[in-house]
Amino acid sequence: MSTSQSLRIGVLALQGAFREHKRLLESLGAWVTEVRLPQQLEGLSGLILPGGESTTIGNLMVEYHLDTAIQDFHAAGGAIFGTCAGAILLARTIHGTPPQFGVQPSLNLMDITVQRNAFGRQLDSFRTLLDVSGFGAPFPAVFIRAPVFKAVGEGVQVLAEHAGQIVLARCGRLLAGSFHPELTGDARIHELFLSMSREAQAAAAV
Ligand code: GLN
Repeated sequence: MSTSQSLRIGVLALQGAFREHKRLLESLGAWVTEVRLPQQLEGLSGLILPGGESTTIGNLMVEYHLDTAIQDFHAAGGAIFGTCAGAILLARTIHGTPPQFGVQPSLNLMDITVQRNAFGRQLDSFRTLLDVSGFGAPFPAVFIRAPVFKAVGEGVQVLAEHAGQIVLARCGRLLAGSFHPELTGDARIHELFLSMSREAQAAAAV
């Protein structure tokens, strides 16, 4: 039996690449639910914010009152993993939002400064091998109109860089990656997130 059998993980399913995360987490033995409403966060140990379009996801999050609910979920001990657009939504500071969008909604949970679309447009999307701190072999990563983390605050651990830019970072029970780890079939980053969620679950049970 998998050690992640009893872990309950949510995937924010408002827009973007949520199905691929769900499938990968299920293949690791987690119980996974799609989250579209605040009450669906109840009883979860971890939540994934998928890639997609961060302004769209942020606006829908506010409309469904999920912004405050996710902040409360984190304050109550839940682990959160933001990938690409999801990482943008975790950030304290966001650069590169087109002016016509005004100030885009953010959960403001992680002390990172993100630069949106840092590698260019859709055509500049690419796949590469990343050296991730703690991983033996390089991790295949897909970058799709990806952001980078221009600055990280004290206490934020940098786990991977690409072309001199930070692309994976962790702070406590928050994990942010600027690429799509759900698309290449390598489950190591999701395993890391499940272990963070397991720790969060254990701490909440004390
Ligand atoms: N470029 C998108 C944004 O800024 C993110 C792209 C992605 O999630 N793959 O919202």
